[in-house]
Amino acid sequence: CGIVGYVGPQSALDVVTAGLKRLEYRGYDSAGVAVQADGGLATAKRAGKLVNLEKELSERPLPAGTTAIGHTRWATHGGPTDANAHPHMDNAGRVAVVHNGIIENFAALREELTGRGHELASETDTEVVAHLLAEEYSACADLAEAMRLVCRRLEGAFTLVAVHADEPDVVVGARRNSPLVVGVGKGESFLASDVAAFIAHTREAIELGQDQVVELRRDAVTVTDFDGAPADVREYHVDWDA
Ligand code: GLU
Repeated sequence: CGIVGYVGPQSALDVVTAGLKRLEYRGYDSAGVAVQADGGLATAKRAGKLVNLEKELSERPLPAGTTAIGHTRWATHGGPTDANAHPHMDNAGRVAVVHNGIIENFAALREELTGRGHELASETDTEVVAHLLAEEYSACADLAEAMRLVCRRLEGAFTLVAVHADEPDVVVGARRNSPLVVGVGKGESFLASDVAAFIAHTREAIELGQDQVVELRRDAVTVTDFDGAPADVREYHVDWDA
């Protein structure tokens, strides 16, 4: 239901959890985060309100990092449990993904993945994306390219945001029939389903178009379509008060 991503010099988990709070008004049943740290990824996720996630993070703190993603979930496939909360990861734990929307063809993709030996840990439509991203990444070693290849296989409505342990300081997003906005800061970048999530940090924004993929770095925002063709980006100033 709500998505936030961050790359920059600040404590990424603090930025992401504060962003999720700004999206709380939309309603949700679970929440989770993933952070890049020490060459890997660490995640925490909990059913229920953000206070449950915050309690988990204070009892079992994640390592500090400067790149993170976060999610508040409104369950459509699989009940509101800890296991079904996002982020979802591949079996090696090298890629983490959060998702708003519905992947209509997830059942066929799931069957295909289990046939290739993947073990799925949740009942969500989302989890197939983590496994597909891991497969594509192992062939191309480029998370934005892996995202483009996976999106071409997905049907339905989705905002997807992912990080990979082998691409420090990179967050990749994609969208179809579901919103995704980039926040352009000075030496830091944000991704969110709604500008309210990052407006405390920057008011320079880029709205992603239909069927586009964005690669987010501290000082660079690269947008393409699902085939890899560069897309025109138009930065605008958010002048309303959140
Ligand atoms: N369909 C996904 C799920 O049920 C995402 C739901 C959402 O938009 O939060 O996990």
